[in-house]
Amino acid sequence: MEHIDKKSEHEANDIIDAYLNLVCLPGISERTIYDDFTANDGKHKLIDNVLLPEQEYRCCYCMMKMGNCREASIEHVIPQSIRNKGDFLQYFNTRAKNYLNYENVCLTSDFIKGRFVFPPYPHVMSYYNFSIACTDCNNHRGSQYIEPLFFYPDIKNEIQYNEKTGEMNWSADPVLNNGSSVDLPTIEKVELNTPLLKAIRCVWFYAKSHKIDLGKLKQVDERYEILYQVAGEAIVADCHFNDETLKAYLNLQTDKYWNKLLKYDYFGI
Ligand SMILES: [Zn+2]
Repeated sequence: MEHIDKKSEHEANDIIDAYLNLVCLPGISERTIYDDFTANDGKHKLIDNVLLPEQEYRCCYCMMKMGNCREASIEHVIPQSIRNKGDFLQYFNTRAKNYLNYENVCLTSDFIKGRFVFPPYPHVMSYYNFSIACTDCNNHRGSQYIEPLFFYPDIKNEIQYNEKTGEMNWSADPVLNNGSSVDLPTIEKVELNTPLLKAIRCVWFYAKSHKIDLGKLKQVDERYEILYQVAGEAIVADCHFNDETLKAYLNLQTDKYWNKLLKYDYFGI
């Protein structure tokens, strides 16, 4: 996982300002302000020209490579679904205050009540509240409260990947309250340790250490050979290895899943 350094404010806000100047008319609501951005060219420009290059074209959570706005989605770190001040302040004060400030983000309903003066930007339209995620990760995260781990400056060193099991861990990931299902650590909330993601990482780690060019393995039997080796090592190392994990390795032989695997070259670098 990589730290996202938000250094493109000027470029991003040119696009966001143009959109807000266009739509901030009486009648716009907190429910439609972001939805209308989806139909506006500005959103595509913002993703393709600013947000994707800023993240080297990788999902902020799983590191999958994405080509353009058709494959990528905007992830709101303070969730879009937050609509009241209490929830906004709770999220802000417990998770966001180290990377956001009241000069660049405010509650969207306050923005609308304040007659569209910006900055601060409504949280559903704030560059500082945006990152780019793949659709799977964005769906898994939903509107759960999470630690904005990619905004932690040293996150690359704090996240560990087990090279034999593919498992991802963040030692600082807190479990709040009593570990109930709604208070799982961030990595579990975003489902970053699915059998498929773990298998994909293991294959890349193996390829890196054995200097194998995965992009050249076009035939199923060539893929089978490496998958057999990697799965064999994972069975020994991973006490959670089960039928689902085995299925993930078997699926990876197919073009559909192999092509997905190739988008995770982050783990082979
Ligand atoms: Zn992802």
